This record gives sequence, structure tokens and C-alpha cells, in this order.
Amino acid sequence: MSEHLVRRRIFLDGRWVDPFDSKPIEVTDCFTEARLGEAPGVGGDDVGRAVDAGRRAWSRWASTPRVERARLLGRVRDNLASRVDVIAQVWAREAGMPIAAGRPSTAGLAFAVLDEMIEILSAPHAEERIGSTIVVEEPVGLVAAITPWNYPMSQLAIKTASALAAGCTVVAKPSEIAPFGAFFFADAVAEADLPPGVFNLVAGSGRPVGEVLASDPRVDAISFTGSTATGRRLMEIAAGRIARVTLELGGKSASVVLDEGHLEEAVTATMASCFRNNGQTCTSLTRLVVPHPLVDRAATMAAEIAASQRLGDPSDHSTTIGPLVSSAQRDRVRHFIESGIAEGAELVIGGSGAPPGLERGYFVQPTVFANVEPQSTIAQEEIFGPVLSVIGHAGTDDAIAIANGTRYGLAGAVFGPDDEALAVARSIRAGFVSVNGGAFNSRAPYGGLGQSGLGRELGRWGMEEFVELRAVSLMT
Ligand code: ADP
Repeated sequence: MSEHLVRRRIFLDGRWVDPFDSKPIEVTDCFTEARLGEAPGVGGDDVGRAVDAGRRAWSRWASTPRVERARLLGRVRDNLASRVDVIAQVWAREAGMPIAAGRPSTAGLAFAVLDEMIEILSAPHAEERIGSTIVVEEPVGLVAAITPWNYPMSQLAIKTASALAAGCTVVAKPSEIAPFGAFFFADAVAEADLPPGVFNLVAGSGRPVGEVLASDPRVDAISFTGSTATGRRLMEIAAGRIARVTLELGGKSASVVLDEGHLEEAVTATMASCFRNNGQTCTSLTRLVVPHPLVDRAATMAAEIAASQRLGDPSDHSTTIGPLVSSAQRDRVRHFIESGIAEGAELVIGGSGAPPGLERGYFVQPTVFANVEPQSTIAQEEIFGPVLSVIGHAGTDDAIAIANGTRYGLAGAVFGPDDEALAVARSIRAGFVSVNGGAFNSRAPYGGLGQSGLGRELGRWGMEEFVELRAVSLMT
């Protein structure tokens, strides 16, 4: 595996090239804490070169027939398919995603989006007319795609597939903490022989590279996934020139169990979501909101599930919870656990110490708190680790108020009689809500309300983020 993990070049204008200026950034194996590899940290001139390449390629790509764009995306897809195993293996080491879940996830969302874009582009498409007015659709231009470390390949694949499908060109900047998934994606693009400059990859950390990219006036749209704080910063930068932003940010999603909801099913589904990717998932259901008399039972069930997790090497197929991505992230999560205890929540299982026998690797104990106050820190802040808060509610209205009582609005779940649960789902202010275990749909729009974000990804809505609409009226 390691031969793939020393990356010194960036992908520019259709070729892998040496940066003018690069300070290599060491990437750490989050299980062994040893060096995993290195990726470049490029300078501003390299960012400028990538933007040049993206701009130069734009008008030709924008006028490339849709079926040709579909054909080339199909090649990216095929090239990615042969890399699924290595991407999942590296994901386990760069960000801690257990391989048993990581492999199907790698093979899932990125391919679903590529397939969806190919299908959209392959279908007949006519300009819409409103009376004597033609609705002209145009690609927005050059897109900066800035992605985080938790789903390193698929987040970039979603943004790139949607932008390229719309006729935009892309300069991508993955996370410096877990960059390799994006490099494998770029390998797949490189081999697909897209016209030079249509897709470009730079690398490095947030301020010196991400911010320089986002600030370039030739970038027409910024598509970002990451923390709310960085999203806010990027929106400020975009405001300076009224550039478009799509922001996929944090969450503090609630799973609401109504009086007649099936408690065991609810707890099982909520825990699966809460512990997905070791809790490093923005849509994780991290607040389990149950009727007051059921708090103890729900917490006991959740604790049994937490106790049954297999912590360990994320490359081992039997592991269900791996290490967190970094020591900083581990310390942050442990600090939240301490704040939960300090603020009086009942610690049912877990805690802030290292799990027994796992002092090495950035592990956090799967943790369940009961009787958590809805306004307390652990019920309000995104923790991004395997930590569940069980909160009591005093009826449906109270449950809805608790679910909506954070600054976020990314996801949610409701368990109860179908009609009632659907009505509650409609009242939960979140971009995606599951009713009685309804599955996430990669063809439906995805995104957040409130401080969880702006704009949508996935399906035709994801592509439309990168489309500009104009009205051209004819004489009648
Ligand atoms: P996380 O805490 O999940 O790593 P961040 O928002 O810090 O989330 O990072 C997500 C992505 O945003 C990464 O690629 C990171 O390098 C980049 N980034 C961080 N700060 C900035 C910034 N000021 N401008 C542009 N990109 C940034």
C-alpha cells in the first residue's frame, strides 16, 4: 500500500506535475500513530496555475455535448471501480473508517452520483420556454471544491461529478489530514483523458492553499464540505465578489421516538448512525430523544450496543469502531465527554479515558450519556466521535422543539406510527429525515438548514448548484 502514499505531484492541465513550491505534509496512520505517507503542501503560485488551467479549459468544456461529458464521466467511473479496494484500505489508515463498512461505502455513494450524472446527461434535454422567453442554462464557471477528511474520496467525487456534469471545470483541494482518497480519485480522472484543465488537484492546508484558492477572483463558485467555522469564513470570502457557495457543514441530528414508537428498532438504527465512521459523520444521529419514562430503558439498550462494538485495527474486517482521525480530534472528543460529566449528564458507558488496551491509536470509548439536558454542551455541539446523548421528551411537541433546538439542521429520524411519524418528520427542520428507518437516498437532494449549510448536493439538484439561469425573450 505504502508505494501509493508518497505523493509529490499535483494534477494540472491534464498532467501530474511537480509543484513550483511545496512543503510536504506528513500524513499519520491514525491506528499506529506512525507516518503513513506524505502529500504536497503547495504554494500560491501553484494554486494560481491550477486556476489558470481550469479557466482556460472552461469554455470548451461548457460547450462539450452532454453525451460526451457523460461518456467521459463513465470512464472516470470505470477507472475508480478498479481502485475501490485500495481506497478503502487507505481510508481505514488515514481517517479510521473500519474497512468492513468503508469498502461498500467507497463503492456506494461516489458511483451512485457518477451514475446519476451519466443518466441525466444521457437523457434528452431541451431548453425550457416560458411564453416567448427561453430559459438559458449555463455552467457557472470554475468551481473550487474544498473537502474534509472524513469521507476523503466520495466527498470529492460528488462535487466533481456534479460540477463536470453541469459543464463547469474544477480545482479541488482535499484535506491535508487525509488527502489520499482525493489523489486516488484524481488518478481515475487522469486516466480518463478528460480535456486538459477540466479537473485539477492542488493540495495543502486550509489557510495557505484553501483560502488562496477560494479568494481567487477567477473562481466562480466554492463548493465546500467541512466545519461550520470554515464554511462561515468561505462565505465571507465569497461575499467579497458575490461568488456562489455551496456549504455542507456540521450537524447535531436528533432521532425522535414517539410514545408508540418501536424503541428497540429506534435505538438500533440510531446507534448504527451515531457510530458510523466512528462518529465522524456529519449526518450522525447523536441525540436520541425518547419519552421521559423510557430514558433509562433506551440508555440501557444503547449501552449494550456500545459494549458490543469491536474496537481495534480499522483494517481488520471484524472491527466496528476504529480510531479517530488525529490526536487533536481524539482530545476534542474526550474533552466533550468530560464536559458532559461536568454538566451533570449521567454517564452510562464509556468515558474520557483510552479504551483498555488501546492506548496507542486515536481511540475514544464508545460513550452513552442519559438524562442529558437539551441545552447542555454535549446536546448542542457537534462532537464528531462515538458519543450518544439520550434526552427525555414530554410529548410530541416537546420532542419536535428539542429536535429543532440547535443551530444545526442536517438530518433527523422519527420512530412511531407511520402517519404521526411522517407529520413529525415534516416538522423537523433538517435536510434529510428518516421515518421508521427509511434509507438515505443518493438520488434525493442532500444538504442542511440553519448552520448546517447552504445549497444542495446529489441528484439533479446537486448539478443545478452549478448552473446559471438566464432569460432571453424573443419578439412575438
Ligand atoms: P475539519 O475540522 O473537518 O477538518 P475544516 O473545515 O477545518 O474541517 O476543513 C475542511 C477543509 O477546509 C479542509 O480541506 C481544510 O484544509 C479546508 N480549510 C480549512 N480552513 C480553511 C480556510 N480558512 N480556507 C479555505 N479552506 C480551509
